[in-house]
Formats: sequence, C-alpha cells, structure tokens
Amino acid sequence: MLDCAIIGGGPAGLTAGLYTTRGGLKNVTLFEMGMPGGQITQSSEIENYPGFFEHDKTGMDFMDTWQKQCFHFGLKHEMKKVERVAKTGEHFTVTLEGGSTVEAMTVIVCTGSVPKRAGFKGEDEYFGKGVSTCATCDGFFYKDKPVTVLGGGDTALEEAFYLSNICSDVYVVHRREEFRAAPPTLDRVMRKSNIHLVTNSVIEEAVGDAMGLSGVNIKNNDGTITHMDNTGLFVFVGHNVRNDVLKDEKGEFICKMNDWGQVIVDLSMKTSVPGLFAAGDMRIEAPKQVVSAAGDGSIAALQVISYIQEQA
Ligand code: FAD
Ligand code: NAP
Repeated sequence: MLDCAIIGGGPAGLTAGLYTTRGGLKNVTLFEMGMPGGQITQSSEIENYPGFFEHDKTGMDFMDTWQKQCFHFGLKHEMKKVERVAKTGEHFTVTLEGGSTVEAMTVIVCTGSVPKRAGFKGEDEYFGKGVSTCATCDGFFYKDKPVTVLGGGDTALEEAFYLSNICSDVYVVHRREEFRAAPPTLDRVMRKSNIHLVTNSVIEEAVGDAMGLSGVNIKNNDGTITHMDNTGLFVFVGHNVRNDVLKDEKGEFICKMNDWGQVIVDLSMKTSVPGLFAAGDMRIEAPKQVVSAAGDGSIAALQVISYIQEQA
C-alpha cells in the first residue's frame, strides 16, 4: 500500500513528490506517462519564475534540476500512464495502462492539460508535417523562412517572439482586435519588426501536398481571403484539461468538477472525496503558471501528510 500515489510529473506533481518524501512519507510513487517535467518543457523560455532569471534557458533546461531535487528524498517514479483512480473503502485503487493496479492511502492528481486543436481544414492532415504546437521543437525547421502563428494568448505571443529570432517573418493570426496575452508580452511583440499582427482573422485552411504544408489561407472578418506560402504553422489556441483518470467505468467523474472539466478543490487542494487531492493546471481557477502549480503541489503534499496522521 502506497502512502501516496502522485499522478503526473509536471511542476505540481514533482513538487508534491518533494514535499511528501521530505516531510517523512516513505512510500510515495509518482506515475508519469512520459518524461517528468510537464508542459513547460515545450517552452522556449521562462522568465517569471522567482529566482530564475536566465533568458537563454529553455523550459527543458529549467525542469532538469527539478527532477534531480524532487527525486532526492526517496520519491519513486514509474513511467506509466494511469487509466483510472477509484475509491475502494478507505483506500484508493489506481489502475495503470495494461490493467495492473496499485493501492494507495491518498492520491494527488496533477495531470495538467494538453494543447487544443483550432479546428480549421487541413489542421489534422498536416499536423506534424508543417502544423505544430511546439516552437521549441519545430521552429528551427523554418530558419530564415516566414511562418504563421495562430492565437492571441500568452503562449501564442511568447512563442511568436521566440520564432522571430529564428524565422524571417512571423505572422500572428488572431480572431479579434484585442489580445488575451499580458500587456508586457504584447508590447514586446509589437516592438519586434519581423512580427506582423493579422487581427480579426482566422485560418480558413492549411493547404499542402504529400510533401507537407505549403501554405495557409487566412480569412478576414470582412470575408477577404489571403494566401500565404508559409510552410510552418504554429497553433496556440489553449488547452484541454486532462481529467480522464477521474472518470469511473461509466464515464462519470468520481469527484466534483466544474463545467469546463476542472477539478473543484478548496484552498487545501482537497477534492470532494476525502484523501483525493488535485493540483496544478487541472484545478478550478488555476493561474496556469509554473510557480502556482508548484505551490499547489506543496499544499496538497502537506495536506496528505496531515490526512495520513489523522487516519493513524
Ligand atoms: P503539466 O505541466 O501539464 O504536467 C502534467 C503531467 O502529467 C504531464 O507531464 C503529463 O505527461 C502527465 N500526465 C497526464 N495524464 C497522465 C496520466 N493519465 N498518467 C500519467 N501521467 C499523466 N508558465 C509560467 O509560469 N511561465 C511561463 O513562461 C510559461 N510558459 C509556457 C509556455 C508554453 C508553451 C506552455 C504550453 C505553458 C507555459 N506555462 C508557463 C504554463 C505552465 O507550463 C503550466 O502552468 C504548468 O506546467 C502546469 O503544471 P502541472 O504540473 O499542473 O501540469
Ligand atoms: P489562452 O489564454 O486560452 O489563449 C488562447 C488564444 O487562442 C486566445 O487568444 C483565443 O482567442 C484563441 N483561440 C481559441 N480557440 C481558437 C480557434 N478555434 N481559432 C482561433 N483562435 C482561437 O491559451 P494560452 O495562450 O495557451 O494560455 C493558457 C494559460 O497559460 C493562460 O492562463 C496563460 O496566461 C498561461 N500562460 C502564461 C504564460 C506566462 O505567464 N508567461 C505563458 C504561456 C501561457 P480569444 O482571445 O478570442 O478567445
């Protein structure tokens, strides 16, 4: 029986692992279906984590030391996907991919979110063949070439800035006049001469052939369509909450959720099910920041320690 099963190895899960083990729990396992680090490893930079002010470091560089520190106090790691969490009596049964199960006294779910698709014609067909959701991974393929970015949030503008240092021109297509991104991020983008903001517009179609994406058709709200020969299209239109582990066999959630599929927690990261905690981007009103995900992870871990002491 585990003291605690942590699901997801992003900033929230790693921090929960650090605090549970350093706080004295001996039997804690973090289940992560890929490499630990979470979605920030896709980012070309991070400039708002207190104490970390190195602009030449990527999200991958940033998370590298987290893993070393968080596993230092005895946290175990299994590179496994979790299918489901169920409460069986006083304890939890965690079902892993393949069907094996693990029992745990407490569970902290930190499964985060995934990039959304925008839904334009050709997006799926050319995904991985010109359409991308990762500038750090794919930007270099378009060195000195023009690219298109879709979206008007922080991710779209930060990644447009990153791409502007590699690519000849970056065309940011956004469906409204106002941007959702933080004002300083928008200011920085507007000062970059090779970033062009194409507002009140959407991608109507990604076009190409067997070789991949050859260009995009951009439709303005006034109905005019412009074709651009940009062979790279980066889509940054938000995220879906990864909450499947909290669904039972009938597809019903085992704890209370809001209409957007986010887990309802209190300020202690407690869900509606005793012993079950949720932390990071998947919870209600998450600021979706590394620093807050880490903070959530530490809060949930301290609550787990108290919960186990109360049960003894
Ligand atoms: P995540 O980081 O999403 O981690 C969840 C983990 O759970 C993943 O590793 C996933 O593989 C794993 N997982 C999911 N389902 C399962 C399962 N069933 N079984 C096992 N494992 C599972 N924030 C900032 O503060 N500053 C920034 O500059 C910044 N830039 C960003 C740039 C980009 C491109 C993106 C995408 C995000 C950025 N963010 C930034 C936001 C930040 O990355 C997130 O807020 C943070 O990573 C959330 O942490 P998390 O632990 O909640 O979830
Ligand atoms: P987001 O804030 O939800 O922005 C998504 C953008 O895509 C919006 O501008 C939206 O337009 C647009 N969009 C959505 N669906 C679309 C569609 N089908 N077609 C065309 N455009 C579409 O997502 P995000 O930028 O990924 O950010 C997610 C969270 O992470 C945010 O809370 C953000 O603050 C945070 N984050 C923070 C930082 C940072 O602090 N440095 C960096 C990255 C991310 P509308 O505006 O019209 O809705």
